[in-house]
Amino acid sequence: MIAPMCLFCRILEGQVPATTVAETPLSLAFRDIDAKAPTHVLVIPRRHVPDLGELAEYPDELADVVALAARVADDEGLDHGYRMVANTGAGAGQTVFHAHLHLLGGRELTWPPG
Ligand code: 5GP
Ligand code: ZN
Repeated sequence: MIAPMCLFCRILEGQVPATTVAETPLSLAFRDIDAKAPTHVLVIPRRHVPDLGELAEYPDELADVVALAARVADDEGLDHGYRMVANTGAGAGQTVFHAHLHLLGGRELTWPPG
């Protein structure tokens, strides 16, 4: 289940430091190292799959990632609104090929994102 060269698997294993904000038995939430908003948290499944679409093969784990992101949004007081983003594929800006949701909030978020 762990892909040894994968950055997020290494964060899950404690081999790369990260600022954890919440976790469940299935998922981990930690702050993005290059925050694009006052709240920018990455929520990842403990299972290594390359993108969120692939995680749909494990519905409980997909639901857990979404629920944890919503819980962090609540904890961070993002009651004005927030965005969950899953960049999928290099053409959409995905750079780490371990499924993750970006949780963004704490500022006005324009739409479309560009
Ligand atoms: P993607 O571009 O794949 O959608 O998102 C990957 C995210 O991982 C980027 O927003 C990037 O800033 C973040 N990131 C890259 N390396 C690290 C790291 O070592 N630690 C943390 N916390 N975030 C990282
Ligand atoms: Zn991984």
